[in-house]
Amino acid sequence: MNIHEYLGAELLRSKGIPTGSGKVAQSLDEGLKIAHELSYPVVLKAQVLSGGRGKAGGVKIAKTEDEFRAHFQHIHGMKLKDCIVQKIFVVKAMKILKEVYLAMTFDYSKNALVLIGSAAGGMDIEKVAAVSPEKIHKLYLKANTVPSEKKLREFSQKIFQDPEDVEAGVFTFSRIHQLFLEKDCSLIEINPFALTDKGEWIAADAKFTFDDNALFRHESVSAMRDLAMEDQDEIKAREMNLSFVKLDGDIGCVVNGAGLAMATLDIVKLMGGNPANFLDVGGSSNPQKMVNALQLILRNPKVKGILINIFGGITRCDDIANGLIQALSELDMKLPYVVRLTGTNEKEAREILAQQKIPCFSTMREAVTKIIERSKN
Ligand code: GDP
Ligand code: MN
Repeated sequence: MNIHEYLGAELLRSKGIPTGSGKVAQSLDEGLKIAHELSYPVVLKAQVLSGGRGKAGGVKIAKTEDEFRAHFQHIHGMKLKDCIVQKIFVVKAMKILKEVYLAMTFDYSKNALVLIGSAAGGMDIEKVAAVSPEKIHKLYLKANTVPSEKKLREFSQKIFQDPEDVEAGVFTFSRIHQLFLEKDCSLIEINPFALTDKGEWIAADAKFTFDDNALFRHESVSAMRDLAMEDQDEIKAREMNLSFVKLDGDIGCVVNGAGLAMATLDIVKLMGGNPANFLDVGGSSNPQKMVNALQLILRNPKVKGILINIFGGITRCDDIANGLIQALSELDMKLPYVVRLTGTNEKEAREILAQQKIPCFSTMREAVTKIIERSKN
């Protein structure tokens, strides 16, 4: 789960990390009031749950009320990465002298937590990482260990030069590390960590991602969720207890088991198709799950065909077949679909499907080739 910058800034402040002062506005009047209180110049920042807002025109400085009105009206309601901007964070503008990148996340390939820092922070950090990776510094940490101050200082010295700035780095990294563990984050990113002309280091942006599986133990974090910014199909899927991720292709996939679901996406891609989603209907054999899954997929107007790929283990193929037949009788299914079933009670499943003249494949390759072909027509 991601949260808005203005809420991330609150979390940083709760740990003593300075941020710009500001408030979030939903309407122009509210925004004007905040700007007036802060006094101009102020920065208007679109609140959406993804980065790259600056480059997309979602961050603007207003020196006067007239400029504020113009920027607010432009940003409010604008579409940024598929989301309509509803909230604008209004912050006191500061002259920024230096922009540094600070972050903490997991490195799964190293089985470690990692602190990341670069003196080349700002909006081009992705380019820096691609072109001059030596400018990105990393400190790997074992889970459940606290880095010593000495270690943090050595690390901070790679990013900052002036001894006072190094200390600001040590403090901020140690607080990011505390927050990360306390709140079960999977990413904290401050970019830019900015040096102002008043000589103060502030977090001028705050990006937080939380581990969905740990949200149950952080009510205060769950309360920060902004459902309006999330994909409506993914919200629906959560309500139905289905593990679902929307993708941008046109072949809907219904699969049992996360591993098989991943493999299915790979094979669809490999055979020249584009999956519309990841969907794991799980191990149980409740036919209703099949109805829910198909209903969910049919909500996406991009979908041109549906691939049902089941490997029967605990899940029994005959239950899936019955679920499918129930779903077909309840839903208005006009799209082509292909079924691949193998494993427990495969024979019974095939008989059930044959009675309804539903063709069924036993290899993934056949089924995937077929659905790609059929969804093209
Ligand atoms: P992002 O593009 O989504 O990462 O949004 P940021 O919050 O990082 O803002 C983009 C850029 O706007 C930053 O890199 C800064 O250069 C600039 N910016 C953000 N806040 C301020 C501010 O308070 N004052 C000034 N002068 N620039 C800011
Ligand atoms: Mn940023």
